Amino acid sequence: MIEVQNLIGGKHITADECFDDICPSDGSIIASIPRTMAVDDAVSAAEKAQPEWAALSLEQRADWLAIIADALESRHEELAELEALDTGKPLEVAREVDIARSIENFRFFADFARTLPEEVFEMDDATNTVLRKAVGVVGLISPWNLPLYLLTWKVAPALLMGNTIIAKPSEITPLTAYSFGQILCEIGLPAGVVNIVHGYGPEVGQALVEHRAVKAISFTGGTATGRMVARTAAPMFKKLSLELGGKNSSIVLDDADLDLAIPGIARAGFLNSGQICLCGSRILVHSSLYDEFLTRFLAEVEALELGPVISKDHMMKVLSYIDLAVSEGGEIEAGGLKSEGDGFHIEATVITGLSHDSRTATEEIFGPVVTIHRFDSDAEAITMANCTDYGLAGSVWSKNRGEELAKHIESGMVWVNTWLHRDLRVPFGGIKDSGIGREGGMWSLGFFSEAVNICVKHI
Ligand code: NAP
Repeated sequence: MIEVQNLIGGKHITADECFDDICPSDGSIIASIPRTMAVDDAVSAAEKAQPEWAALSLEQRADWLAIIADALESRHEELAELEALDTGKPLEVAREVDIARSIENFRFFADFARTLPEEVFEMDDATNTVLRKAVGVVGLISPWNLPLYLLTWKVAPALLMGNTIIAKPSEITPLTAYSFGQILCEIGLPAGVVNIVHGYGPEVGQALVEHRAVKAISFTGGTATGRMVARTAAPMFKKLSLELGGKNSSIVLDDADLDLAIPGIARAGFLNSGQICLCGSRILVHSSLYDEFLTRFLAEVEALELGPVISKDHMMKVLSYIDLAVSEGGEIEAGGLKSEGDGFHIEATVITGLSHDSRTATEEIFGPVVTIHRFDSDAEAITMANCTDYGLAGSVWSKNRGEELAKHIESGMVWVNTWLHRDLRVPFGGIKDSGIGREGGMWSLGFFSEAVNICVKHI
């Protein structure tokens, strides 16, 4: 049994009141999580540490990121085991996706910092120099689906730009954030630079968003929560980044290479049990390939081994969407049920026969459930892909027309003949109800800094 503690001002602090962390694989209690209102203390610690941290040079902070990357790397397996325990995902996924990327987040921004050009704009009679100053104390709120991966995706650029941090991980998956805090203490990161507060979102998360001294909020989570965060933060003119939900299409054009598309679309639909904001949960297939696609896709899905979904509540939500699909006229081609045994397992589920604008096909389910729809022309595929309120990502599978069709998809990211193929320099984020702002490369550094122009007249 692990006792998770808050990290405040370089010290791990025990709480009087705690609640349980449940393992999704078997429903057992694996840790206790502090339920405290520690945000004020964390903000004080972050404010105290901020001037000294911001006074370091960019190179010195990049050096710190590299040290953090090395420290995480030396604990790769241990962190992967913790992530697998807390989320139920297969150890291999935790190792090769979650923790590998968490290390890369620090490594990438450490290296990227050393490539930044000076921003100088000459006029005939003056020189403009753009400085990027720290925003100050920033709040980072992250979800449970990729716990350390998404937390560190915010921590690395925030630290690089001279901010000090209060991080609020999801109450459902606190373990790797806790371990990350321990690692930061071991390597001697100055006290107060990173503070981690655990607890319930509407309590601790809300307090963080409300706190006047927190100058920016970087939030990744559901659209409904994002709306609440925006409602609180916007009147205080905080900088706000919202990475929200998605309902992404995988589009199979009539010239698709099915040998590539079928495993690619199965991965896009079911990786992490469908609990990735980028998952392609609505599959649009040209009529000429539909029958062959469906037969081969079902065989591909049958061979998948999935972990559980994250919690009992979430399992009930996903199962209720499967019921909804049936009531909307859908046909369950595969799966559709809770798997036998303890834990929160749902079979990989494939549904056909639904209208592309049904609730099942347009609302975010965030589980191992995909719907398949047929279309007859590129124009129809575009209309169907764009008919959700979300606009996060998508993929197009085509030998010749993928890039052209991708330009018409209303989303922040489109992959062609691949999925989740990431270059950390490029913009990541959504449009419509999928959020505001972009992360990645310069976009992250822009968010976590205030650009200040100094114009010097030549005399
Ligand atoms: P969530 O319920 O919105 O929670 C996200 C985070 O917000 C958690 O840390 C949560 O804490 C916290 N929170 C809850 N209520 C809050 C409040 N009133 N004020 C401030 N913070 C609050 O989302 P989730 O269920 O963890 O994650 C799944 C969602 O995230 C899906 O919709 C998925 O698409 C989205 N997502 C988006 C991206 C992206 O990059 N666009 C990436 C991953 C996931 P507690 O957990 O402790 O309640």
